[in-house]
Amino acid sequence: MHCPFCGTHDTKVTDSRLVAEGDQVRRRRQCAACGERFTTYETAELVMPRVVKADGSRETFDERKLRAGMLRALEKRPVSAESIEAAVERIRQRLRARGEREVAALDVGEEVMQALKRLDQVAYIRFASVYRRFQDLDEFRAEIDRLAQEPSFSPNDDT
Ligand SMILES: [Zn+2]
Repeated sequence: MHCPFCGTHDTKVTDSRLVAEGDQVRRRRQCAACGERFTTYETAELVMPRVVKADGSRETFDERKLRAGMLRALEKRPVSAESIEAAVERIRQRLRARGEREVAALDVGEEVMQALKRLDQVAYIRFASVYRRFQDLDEFRAEIDRLAQEPSFSPNDDT
């Protein structure tokens, strides 16, 4: 790496450590020519898979769109912005962890539903009722009954 002070090619790493919970490598470098020290941060370039829609068209994964959908379902619900951000990040991680170049829009929707289910049952029902387009009222009722029978959810439950 070039020295940002004198432009020399010859710089050496004097220290290297993980930061940001291991997502980044921080390196202290020193220029062999002018002796100046500087720091670089290295982060893996994480590429999100492309989203394949029902009609077969592809689009770039849009985190803002995903968040907007979740916020709509969570409107006026007692869920902190922090929890929502953590859920968005978790969805990103899960989608990346698939290791696929493309992911079906349906699968993204399922991830959102699972995330909302953990955050808030009302938001989950709101989202699911639109997303799954419940076939009829009976199916919708069955889902609500099923939820009512489940033990209470913990927002931090990682399952
Ligand atoms: Zn230098």
